[in-house]
Amino acid sequence: MRLRNISGSRDVIAESPLVVHEPEITKGKWKDVFGNTHDLHIEIGMGKGKFLHTLAGKNPEINYIGIEKYSSVLLRALQKMETEPLPNLLFIRMDAEEITEVFDREEVSRIYLNFSDPWPKDRHAKRRLPSREYLARYDQILKKDGVIEFKTDNKDLFEFALEELPFAGWKIVRKTFDLHHDAEMMEGNVMTEYEEKFSSKGNPICKYIIKR
Ligand code: SAM
Repeated sequence: MRLRNISGSRDVIAESPLVVHEPEITKGKWKDVFGNTHDLHIEIGMGKGKFLHTLAGKNPEINYIGIEKYSSVLLRALQKMETEPLPNLLFIRMDAEEITEVFDREEVSRIYLNFSDPWPKDRHAKRRLPSREYLARYDQILKKDGVIEFKTDNKDLFEFALEELPFAGWKIVRKTFDLHHDAEMMEGNVMTEYEEKFSSKGNPICKYIIKR
């Protein structure tokens, strides 16, 4: 999802107190930033941030960070926060490739990947957020009992993601190829923007929850 380059989006982001501007400095100190010892959940590739904003509103005892690569997309999340600010939700504009520079060992309790870009060409497999290369990065920042939750309507990407697990030492906790018809996995489900769009077209949504 790359919106048209919205002019001035970088300036707005640079001035926003909701964005952590030098996140590397905060590595290992995220509890100080939020001013509490609550668990930290992150979404990588959050888009316009509806999913995290809903979760943060429902769960004030959890700290959330949304990570997004593009300023023009992050700007949309900031606009939402201006009308309904939440103390437990912050944003970082960065490429997730550098995630281990920003979070310390076991600093994160849960990682959400929602409708990640598929990168369909084989030579780009390493760029897929559920690839073994990314799983190795997540391994470095996630608590021992931490989980990753991944949703997509892209069956090829989901199958790729499942095949990557044994290479990276992860195990399935739950999985479904049709989330919206799986009553147990649907419990408490918060829809993302892409989930709303694709499920309304009748596309089944795949989901896994994994741990080490
Ligand atoms: N998660 C949202 C949803 O489900 O509605 C947005 C999904 S959109 C298809 C994927 C988002 O991930 C885009 O906004 C894109 O810019 C972001 N993204 C892709 N690769 C990324 C990376 N390496 N680091 C950070 N964000 C990334």
